Amino acid sequence: MAIKNAYLLDLLERTKKRNPNEPEFIQAVSEVFTSLEPVIEKRQDLVDAGVLERLVEPERQIIFRVPWVDDNGKTQVNRGFRIQFNSAIGPYKGGIRLHPSVYLGIIKFLGFEQIFKNSLTTLPMGGAKGGSDFDPKGKSDGEIMRFCQSFMTELCKYIGADCDVPAGDIGTGAREIGYMFGQYKRIRNEWVGVLTGKGLTYGGSLARTEATGFGLCYFTKEMLAANGMSFDGKTVLISGSGNVAIYACVKAQSYGAKVVAMSDSNGYIYDKNGIDIAAVKEIKEVKRGRIKDYLNYHKDAEYHEGCKGIWTIPCDIALPCATQNEIDGESAAILVKNGCKVVSEGANMPSTPEAIDTYLANGILYGPAKAANAGGVATSGLEMSQNSIRYSWSFEEVDEKLHNIMKSIFKACDEAAKEYGMPGNYMAGANIAGFLKVAEAMKAQGNV
Ligand code: NDP
Repeated sequence: MAIKNAYLLDLLERTKKRNPNEPEFIQAVSEVFTSLEPVIEKRQDLVDAGVLERLVEPERQIIFRVPWVDDNGKTQVNRGFRIQFNSAIGPYKGGIRLHPSVYLGIIKFLGFEQIFKNSLTTLPMGGAKGGSDFDPKGKSDGEIMRFCQSFMTELCKYIGADCDVPAGDIGTGAREIGYMFGQYKRIRNEWVGVLTGKGLTYGGSLARTEATGFGLCYFTKEMLAANGMSFDGKTVLISGSGNVAIYACVKAQSYGAKVVAMSDSNGYIYDKNGIDIAAVKEIKEVKRGRIKDYLNYHKDAEYHEGCKGIWTIPCDIALPCATQNEIDGESAAILVKNGCKVVSEGANMPSTPEAIDTYLANGILYGPAKAANAGGVATSGLEMSQNSIRYSWSFEEVDEKLHNIMKSIFKACDEAAKEYGMPGNYMAGANIAGFLKVAEAMKAQGNV
């Protein structure tokens, strides 16, 4: 992926200078710019309106102290972030990541990606992301609650149902959303849909839990069908064993695929008989255990330390659902060598630029994250709609809307790729289709 357009190259250089030491953010911007070359050549009006200069600069960046008291009575301090990147097409929307690796560059890459992803969903949502370098692993419920309350005590000054609606992400599940929602309501004295991913007893949407994983499979199914293939009988690898990975596995299995491996940040399991997803759900959702515990359920399965090895298992379809840059050029080359035909991304930016080059050079069908995993935020958008009309749709109603949204996202990517002379390059299609809607809105609203 190399940018040739002089204007885009110059803007990328200026973006690098202004955002030093943020390689993930620069990686995300470079990828989008690569795809936008043919658009920029056709649309001088967008250049004149300074759309791209404005797009790479967040509207607002909030960084704050999060003090909390641990179970030993000791004060701990974490750093909180909320990046409100772009509100051209709707209120800011994007998840909250709780992981020790979190710093400004990670939240900015995620917020930037979210702009295009939210645009692709067809729903009116702007792009944002938040989080903290807090590590929920090994913390008691009381510690998690005190952290979430402290985090929201500051964050509540900047968010609102018509302004910015955060959601879950790595480390932020139903428990954390519940504690944050409770604190927001207590401080602001208003019961509004200010967070999505809420519990079903207090405004959550049916099918939100399943949405990202199911949506990934709906998108992948469309991509396969457009290329004369299906999930049926295929061997699938899924990295991660969190929210996205689990429900991707459930849906892929329901389509007749054989999922043979899953992982966590310590290692991966390989079960040649096909993953027993009920066991994984019990380990991860009920016991909050490690993927290694799978051996307690299936003694003939294999466990290997380290995350990268999962990509050495021969497969037809790889669904990375753990974290950014988990497939590098070397792993991508091994996937190709072993006959993998499809990579579709549940995690955000799980493939390095070298990995993406390898997919495109070898004719791999590549479903980029901002399109393939947009089902989560799309269903969050549906949760916002239900909160606004004070009504709840059935699981089937939400799932059907999600399915239709994922079909329309695939169609938009496919058509944009064809229109701009890159048929089959769904990454370019996703970037172009996501960008154009936001760009038109920014231009229409003037230089703000
Ligand atoms: P969870 O916290 O539920 O699960 C994350 C999984 O990835 C865990 O199995 C975790 O293992 C593993 N993981 C995390 N960090 C690493 C790492 N550095 N190396 C290897 N494995 C790692 O998160 P989600 O399932 O919600 O999110 C997964 C990905 O999907 C993220 O990229 C997220 O941004 C993206 N996403 C999520 C959406 C959602 O609706 N939840 C929506 C769209 C995208 P361990 O338990 O050991 O940490």
